[in-house]
Amino acid sequence: MSYAEFYRRSIEQPEAFWAEQARLIDWQYPPERICDDSRPPFTRWFMGGTTNLCHNAVDRHLKERGGQPALIHVSTETGSETVYTFAQLHREVQRTAAMLKALEVAKGDRVLIYMPMIPEAVFAMLACARIGAIHSVVFGGFASVSLASRIEDATPKAVVSADAGSRGGKVVPYKPLLDEAIRLSRHKPSAVLLADRGLAAMDMVAGRDHAWRALAEEHAQAEVPCEWLQATDISYTIYTSGTTGRPKGVQRDVGGYAVSLAASMKHIFQARAGETYFSTSDIGWVVGHSYIVYGPLIAGMATLLYEGLPVRPDAGIWWSLVEKYRVTAMFSAPTAVRVLKKQDPAYLKKHDLSSLRALFLAGEPLDEPTGRWITEALGVPVIDNYWQTESGWPILTIAGGVEPKATKFGSPGIPMYGYKVKILHESTGQELTGPNEKGVVVIEGPTPPGFMQTVWGDDERFVNTYWKSVPGRMVYSTFDWGIRDEGGYYYILGRTDDVINVAGHRLGTREIEESIASHPNVAEVAVVGVADALKGQVAMAFVVARDAAALDDPAARLRLEGEIMKRVDEQLGSVARPARVRFVTLLPKTRSGKLLRRAIQAVCEGRDPGDLTTIEDPTALQQIKDVASQ
Ligand code: AMP
Repeated sequence: MSYAEFYRRSIEQPEAFWAEQARLIDWQYPPERICDDSRPPFTRWFMGGTTNLCHNAVDRHLKERGGQPALIHVSTETGSETVYTFAQLHREVQRTAAMLKALEVAKGDRVLIYMPMIPEAVFAMLACARIGAIHSVVFGGFASVSLASRIEDATPKAVVSADAGSRGGKVVPYKPLLDEAIRLSRHKPSAVLLADRGLAAMDMVAGRDHAWRALAEEHAQAEVPCEWLQATDISYTIYTSGTTGRPKGVQRDVGGYAVSLAASMKHIFQARAGETYFSTSDIGWVVGHSYIVYGPLIAGMATLLYEGLPVRPDAGIWWSLVEKYRVTAMFSAPTAVRVLKKQDPAYLKKHDLSSLRALFLAGEPLDEPTGRWITEALGVPVIDNYWQTESGWPILTIAGGVEPKATKFGSPGIPMYGYKVKILHESTGQELTGPNEKGVVVIEGPTPPGFMQTVWGDDERFVNTYWKSVPGRMVYSTFDWGIRDEGGYYYILGRTDDVINVAGHRLGTREIEESIASHPNVAEVAVVGVADALKGQVAMAFVVARDAAALDDPAARLRLEGEIMKRVDEQLGSVARPARVRFVTLLPKTRSGKLLRRAIQAVCEGRDPGDLTTIEDPTALQQIKDVASQ
């Protein structure tokens, strides 16, 4: 079947199409109804069906491939390497599920997971799925204030964490950050389960904190069957940044998510059971949820969980893992490829990469030179894919498992089955159908299986944020600019909102501004994303100091800059730290007091700031120009 036909069927006969895809997973009871779109924009999939993500990822493979690798963990930080077969993973997950139950975690309870890339993190996620608890994984690179806001919103019964992570050989203790986050949060979890890697000492809080090892021993042989869940039950929430300082909990279902992953593994990633999948993302991001943990395992593949840098011990580390574990599909981000591109290309040639069939890249725009370099270096298709935390799986790409259509440099591809993607005029809401007309990329409902159900605990926010931003039409806004060429290929041109993308990590400028503004000597601050050759974008902060006169002294300026960076590190984590902090005496605003972010960003990137008729004081922009290039 051609992809055009496959796609058409998904749009014109969605019920028949998705009923067929639903057969890719195991159900206790198959769904009675495929799609309920009676209350837009809330779409419900596979009603009446009961299933379980952990059953589909682990248990159902035991008979055929119990002895085959399921989870391969490699840490170049601690020098450890462990392979768990499906049978061993089954044992570990049951044990972890028993531990959570012993901590009184039950179906529907939230479990916040704040962990480095260690097997226990995967056991914890699968154990939650097994017993119907809702996991909320928070990226280990976030610090106490970020973590506290997520704890407060998710109100978890338990938190699963570890003594420490490690980055580039440097131990990053997690426990003090977690303790501080719990102290800051109004909600207090009743139990904390802590894996001890022997990297950092932990102060255990009596009655609340439990050591993983001791509890695991108590439940060593526990048998915990999978809880059959409604397809529409909640599997997890994952927090993502938007335009306000308050992160949104993207909420996902069970059945629709399982089906969307099984289908994407087949049609997009061309998965074959028994092979190895290697995604270099982190479990704290959506790619980690979908394509480190659930997707590959649902497809019966071994998944490689990697802790470490791409260039340590040397820039050949990933390729040596591809060779050693005969990886067939790899998933990474353009920034990582740009990092490798700066290294000696001999590293790529040193290893036998003949097992690799394709490299998938996502998370940020793939620039043409990077795309060309890696395509030539690997000699296999390099497939860009565009999606979001909200969608859970690719929106735009090439479905090579259906039809290996040509890719185009600079374009992530064409709409995936189930997605009605449109480009609309930003202010009129009119559909732009001509080639290369720039507008906002939107998705018409009903959204396909796997797509977010709502914002955790806040249906109104879900509707108002995502579905009401284009005048006169109820469509889902991606908040990305895009164009479509005459061949139907889309090109993504950056965000329409204040979200920035640093090395594929999505950050809200508002969160960073709030953190900086909490410094006693900061009167006002604007944070914008500025183009960066390596990371795609970096954050740049423009600060108006309370005591501006003191900053005439360069040493004082440097000190305040250092303090601001330290504050962001401590509160949000180093991922959010601005690359540069610059001081000005006023910020460019409209006469009504609105910050002119797009103009600031344009000036920093050496572009024309556009229409400035509403600016209150043009000298403010001149100041930005002067300090930006320093
Ligand atoms: P996240 O929710 O963290 O996955 O970030 C989603 C955002 O990253 C999108 O809205 C885009 O702005 C950007 N993005 C993700 N993948 C791509 C891609 N392949 N090409 C261009 N931008 C992308």
